[in-house]
Amino acid sequence: MLPDDMAALDGMTLSEVEIALDLHTRERIPVDKYTAFSWSASRHAMLEACPRRYYLNYYGARRVRDAKHRVVSAVWWLKQVQTLRMWIGTAIHIAAAEAVRALAEGREMPREDITARAGQVYRAGVAASRRGAKFEGRWVALFEHVYPAGPFSADAGIAGAVVVDLAHALVESDAYATLRERAGEIREIDPPFQSFTLPGDHALGSVRVFAIPDVLLYDGTHVLIIDWKSGDVERAALRDQAGVYTLYAHRAYGAPDESIGYALADLAGGGQSVSPPGGPPTVAEAEAFAQGSIRRMIDLMEDVETNTVRIKEFPRTSDLARCAFCAFKRVCWRHDLPESDVSDG
Ligand code: SF4
Repeated sequence: MLPDDMAALDGMTLSEVEIALDLHTRERIPVDKYTAFSWSASRHAMLEACPRRYYLNYYGARRVRDAKHRVVSAVWWLKQVQTLRMWIGTAIHIAAAEAVRALAEGREMPREDITARAGQVYRAGVAASRRGAKFEGRWVALFEHVYPAGPFSADAGIAGAVVVDLAHALVESDAYATLRERAGEIREIDPPFQSFTLPGDHALGSVRVFAIPDVLLYDGTHVLIIDWKSGDVERAALRDQAGVYTLYAHRAYGAPDESIGYALADLAGGGQSVSPPGGPPTVAEAEAFAQGSIRRMIDLMEDVETNTVRIKEFPRTSDLARCAFCAFKRVCWRHDLPESDVSDG
């Protein structure tokens, strides 16, 4: 359980934790489907944000059952942690997926049911996190419960109302109107663990790339990808994400650039469809970006065949503002920094 494994850190120093993790992530064991290297735009964004965060998320937390080490278990638990703001987004995504699934099956969910489902998911997840329990088969560990001293990602007093507002924006959105009109073209709805293979001129030869668009429509010629966004739509990383989806659409459906559309449904902005900052990348641009990122990650490995890494290659960020809402801050000894050090300034 999370509190028990976190307690293992109490009697340790950062240096002792780093030694334990280094032994774990350098252990050369043949890769399996869980430990083989794979790539995604979010993996790239995490490495950009903080090398240590990338290390903890993709290497420190892996093979948790085999490791039988409480430090690895603590890192695994922290990997499950998400902020209340992120959970609000998850609640909206779950309700949206069910609403779009209904459209694809030729029926329409009553709008009040969509709103009610989003609210129910939100409340049940918060309750599950408080109890240290699962919600619908998934662990929910909220940052605000793991780090009760704050800061807080969202005002818990109004978060339920925010969920309702976002759900209303969803059913009133340009994207939802498109989906109602073109329900027969819906091909993909948040397909779990969807990936494609990207060949490359690097040590691995080819890499599994994850691409899981919220909704994909295809009319036999044109692809339209829709991504629900409950937060900021101006982040540069959204363009990288759009590029990976474009690359996926090109490979899976054979669509050229001019036949691939991409819409961010800006729910926090009222529901209009917008483009990512700078517009979606072309297929060639997206592939060059992915290949460059993959090569950089491979260069960081100690042994490519077993996908092992050394912790010293992944320093903690010096930008303390990044640590404020990072789930791993306990294992980085950044959990008790003064608020003035970690706030955006
Ligand atoms: S707490 Fe800070 S240094 Fe540690 S992983 Fe998170 S962002 Fe990186």
